[in-house]
Amino acid sequence: MYLSFDIGGTNMRLATSSDGETFAGSKIIPTPKDFNEGMKTLKQTADELSHGEKIIGIAGGVAGPLDKEKTMLVTSPHIPGWINKPLKTELETVFDCKVILENDTATGGIGEAVKGAGIGKEIVGYIAIGTGVGGKRIVNGKISNDSFNFEPGHQIIVPDGNLCNCGGKGHMEAYVSGSYFEKMYGQKGEDITDPKIWDEISRYLAISLVNTTVHWTPDIIILGGGVSKSIPLEKVKTYLSEFLTIFPQAPEVVKATLGHDAGLYGALYLLTNN
Ligand SMILES: [Zn+2]
Repeated sequence: MYLSFDIGGTNMRLATSSDGETFAGSKIIPTPKDFNEGMKTLKQTADELSHGEKIIGIAGGVAGPLDKEKTMLVTSPHIPGWINKPLKTELETVFDCKVILENDTATGGIGEAVKGAGIGKEIVGYIAIGTGVGGKRIVNGKISNDSFNFEPGHQIIVPDGNLCNCGGKGHMEAYVSGSYFEKMYGQKGEDITDPKIWDEISRYLAISLVNTTVHWTPDIIILGGGVSKSIPLEKVKTYLSEFLTIFPQAPEVVKATLGHDAGLYGALYLLTNN
């Protein structure tokens, strides 16, 4: 039996699979702030879900960047108690099986690429728009190599523009993200109804996606993350086609289809394809 997980700042999701394709059972629980408590909860929940059957492989995504060897979180604003704690080693010891750790944007992107909106596409550009912005380039179900994490949210789209969370200026995240919608318009994405505001946001997003397209040449761009749901896709596509003059046609732009399960599917795919 395989175990997939997705550890976010607020909740963690666990799921078991017998066939490596579909989930037999799943559970959502609040993420313990304390690492040892977290390990205990993981073990207990895994035992419940596996009904005593041996777990032969574990993979999962965690909210934050990992160390180079992908064994632990190195920073995380939401679960600081997990930073620099030996997550992979502990899981290997407790479950005595293969363990694969990834950043949660990566597992979400792979899930969408192989099981969701990107099925059948060779090069997928995954852009996750939530409180901040993350993204991955996925080629044939694999994350493209990157010497640092891909950071499409920190591309400059307005010279000397808004101050970004990272300290830079004019970055995409400082125009198209949940935290900046609140700063700029005083509203959460799902509450914005003014078409003028959406027009402005769509323009900023389209500029960002032009850059994504000329650098990543994706067959499809998948917009994931909680905030992406409110974005008027047709407007974004219209601006993208207008701004992208160098290619004969713009890549398809779609919204993610798997919701919160994307990370679990991505993790399961990593387990059965590595
Ligand atoms: Zn930035």
